[in-house]
Amino acid sequence: MAGSRSATPVVLAVAITGSVPRKADNPAVPVTVAEQIESTHQAFEAGATLAHIHVRNHDESPSSDPEKFAAVQEGLRKHCSGMIVQFSTGGRGRDPAARGLSLKHRPDMASLSTGSVNFPTIVYENPASLVTDLASQMKQHGVRPEIEIFDLSHLHGAKRLVEAGLIDARPHVQFVMGVQNAMPAEEHLLDILLTETRRILPEATWTAAGIGRNQAVVMEWALARGADAVRTGLEDNIRLTKDRLAASNAELVGLAADKVRSHGRRVATPAEARAALGLA
Ligand code: ZN
Repeated sequence: MAGSRSATPVVLAVAITGSVPRKADNPAVPVTVAEQIESTHQAFEAGATLAHIHVRNHDESPSSDPEKFAAVQEGLRKHCSGMIVQFSTGGRGRDPAARGLSLKHRPDMASLSTGSVNFPTIVYENPASLVTDLASQMKQHGVRPEIEIFDLSHLHGAKRLVEAGLIDARPHVQFVMGVQNAMPAEEHLLDILLTETRRILPEATWTAAGIGRNQAVVMEWALARGADAVRTGLEDNIRLTKDRLAASNAELVGLAADKVRSHGRRVATPAEARAALGLA
């Protein structure tokens, strides 16, 4: 078993830009389209094969402009051959009705939250009707969802979408741990989530993201449990230590690649990443 597991490559995902405004304390976060393409290209060279994308307005607030998403995608397809492009349909600071506008540009994947949750200063609202609508749009445009699990009930939200025929029986799920006011980053909670995933979505592939200072430890827990993918990037965490900022997305990807190898596994190539996540 150990041999077959060790031979299994790990998809390395990079979340290059989140929704939090760029301030003096996180200058490395790429914000313009050109910065995003450059930062992702460096991360790709360091081993990342999946890019999770948010775009920003001129004032750096979160944007839903589908043409900005398309411009980033075009740059990545040109400079990062085979890399999986994943658009965020996340809601922070965005009009709910606009969250699916970018899907018409048919990225490989898009994030899909299947329930609501408290965030540090807001409620991240994902009413059932919006979840169904976004899942329907993804199906219509041939976009594979990554299901974001901020709470146990969100797994059951994914199961309902499978039963409704809106997503297939082999979804890719991501457990998000360590968001303030949401699910804490605790190892036994990952076991609970995995046990429930295997019970109700037995064919699912999975990954886990630790937010802020939890990034490295959640990655350790995920790799120790045979995760199909791991996620890093400046959206989730801008610090290497309490006193040192990450210089770039590529630096975080390099550290994640080291961690993958320290577990006797290797970083997936773009073709392997696509095969692992059910993409052409
Ligand atoms: Zn995101």
